[in-house]
Amino acid sequence: MFELKYPLEINDIKRIRAHALLILAEFCIYANQHGLPIVITCMIDDKPEVPGDQDATGRRTKTHLEGRAIDVSANGWDDLHQERVAFHLNSRYGRLYGTAPVGSNATKVVVCHDAGSGTHFHLQCRNGIVTEYD
Ligand SMILES: [Zn+2]
Repeated sequence: MFELKYPLEINDIKRIRAHALLILAEFCIYANQHGLPIVITCMIDDKPEVPGDQDATGRRTKTHLEGRAIDVSANGWDDLHQERVAFHLNSRYGRLYGTAPVGSNATKVVVCHDAGSGTHFHLQCRNGIVTEYD
């Protein structure tokens, strides 16, 4: 279904929030339908040896520490598929589970960016969504 970049461990996925897993599942469906690779590069960002997202000051973002985000490498994804999967997921889940960047009303669950560790998809759900699984 997907690969984990070393040294990630599959058990870390148990600490990911349910809605972030839902977004990952939908991402995997898209990738499988188009024969695209899924390599998870970051889940819970508390391993110093794993490069995670950083903000402008070089701090690691809280979303990964809180189990609200998963990074997937964009290697092997051309620009069209990068845009299409983000559009698909943001259209379907952005309003329900997404967050809006400061100064924007557009809620998103996926951005494709390079935050210092190579171009990747940052899949994310917002804080405060409670389920019986969390
Ligand atoms: Zn990320």
